[in-house]
Amino acid sequence: MENKPKKPSPAIKRNEGRHEPSDKRIKHFNEVALGFDKEEALTEASRCLNCKTKPCEAACPVNVKIPEFIDLIYKEDFSGAVSKIYETSLFPAICGRVCPQETYCEAACVIKDKFKPVSIGRLERFAADYARKEGLVRLPSPEKSTGKKVACVGSGPGSLAVAAELAKKGHSVTVFEALHKYGGVLRYGIPSFRLPRETVDFEVENLKKLGVKFIKNALIGKSISLDELKKDFDAIYIGSGAGLPSPLNIAGEHLIGVYSSNEFLTRVNLMKAYEFPKYDTPYYIGKKVAVAGGGNTAMDSARCAMRLGPESVTVLYRRTRTEMPARAEEVENAMEEGVKFEFLTAPIALEGDDKGRLKRIKCIRMELGAPDASGRRKPVEIKGSEFYVEADSLIVAVGQSPNPLIQQNAKELQTNKWNCLVVDENQKTSVEGIYAGGDVVRGGATVLLAMKDGKNAARAIDEYLKSKK
Ligand code: FAD
Ligand code: SF4
Repeated sequence: MENKPKKPSPAIKRNEGRHEPSDKRIKHFNEVALGFDKEEALTEASRCLNCKTKPCEAACPVNVKIPEFIDLIYKEDFSGAVSKIYETSLFPAICGRVCPQETYCEAACVIKDKFKPVSIGRLERFAADYARKEGLVRLPSPEKSTGKKVACVGSGPGSLAVAAELAKKGHSVTVFEALHKYGGVLRYGIPSFRLPRETVDFEVENLKKLGVKFIKNALIGKSISLDELKKDFDAIYIGSGAGLPSPLNIAGEHLIGVYSSNEFLTRVNLMKAYEFPKYDTPYYIGKKVAVAGGGNTAMDSARCAMRLGPESVTVLYRRTRTEMPARAEEVENAMEEGVKFEFLTAPIALEGDDKGRLKRIKCIRMELGAPDASGRRKPVEIKGSEFYVEADSLIVAVGQSPNPLIQQNAKELQTNKWNCLVVDENQKTSVEGIYAGGDVVRGGATVLLAMKDGKNAARAIDEYLKSKK
């Protein structure tokens, strides 16, 4: 690039990336954030001070070598930049898109107070996309085969991380997935307008090139028992996620038009309801859609619903915007796309018509009281403030917990009161040779924490297999 800014130039305005205008993008499911071109990446990279103390790297759950990869981008060594990321993080195209950088690396960036933080996530995404498109990704060569076999239950980011790490060590890894496609929430939860499916396909294909085997439609605990797996494999990793939706536990949840976010997102994202009748996945949302919740799942549900063409989509959240667990960028995107928000509002009953369809939601206004166990101020009902929200459909996105199937089939696996698997610091469960991580342990966290657990488990499994005769 001619006239490339001198490094460091932190005072250059942070580039927030290009987005397609909201009136156009709500008509399709293509990616909303368009990413950096080469020139934009070089300019943004010039803002980095290459701090010797590396606070951004320390704040990253998998310690991506951030100053080094940004410096390589600035030097226009894009292959080197992506190889540097690959040293610690296996899926930069995914993390660059969905990782909450604003609470990890970018929150620690030293220039954030005077200027805005370096746009680390967008640079990570740029390096990964550029390397993929230009064929610059160099996969590591697996070590000599050890003859040991490892099974991964589920194909979410945690299991994919385990599979990659152990395949590199020469172990034979097989991933068993209950669904007919791989990627876990990356596939059925997070919509394609946030995470294009080719990025997930690319990572799965890379794992296949490393020798990882994938078996779909295999529900462990039902079609194959954990005991059968134990007989055939030297170690097992359980990465089955937290796919059991939490209900609101209020009257009327049985009504037609009331969905769990899980069902709704799976219908839309995995089974392509938005392409009905080309894909035989019917859905009914009517003209007025409501979404209960304030996390990423609620935002994804609301934005998916918006793209299905109703008159309105309204999010009902019992706290305020400040307490919303969803990524700030996604809340802004939802607002830009016309999603309405009723803050400090909780549904208390659902009312239907004579055909059993949802008609209106009885809500109550809330106020914030003292902090609860999560440290956030607890919402408290304001007596006498009940009101109604007209709605043809309601998507309930108020939390998930692990599906109990595996735990029910293997009573020796220790669980806590939320039915999450209990593990030690090495991700080891109460059963020898069985490890677990990600949402089945944490009960709903982030992609990067699932990957972190996966890497930790892979290290421990490798040591365990080496110690086994
Ligand atoms: P999962 O991704 O949940 O994958 C588990 C897999 O196991 C699934 O494919 C499931 O079908 C399979 N499985 C379950 N039981 C069995 C069985 N018995 N046999 C075989 N297979 C089984 N995090 C972020 O960092 N950023 C975001 O923007 C973000 N957005 C999100 C949006 C939504 C809608 C949701 C639901 C979550 C979001 N998250 C986000 C959270 C993140 O996706 C999860 O924390 C992460 O995917 C957990 O990874 P995992 O590997 O533990 O399991
Ligand atoms: Fe660059 Fe910010 Fe990290 Fe310093 S803290 S190395 S400026 S990204």
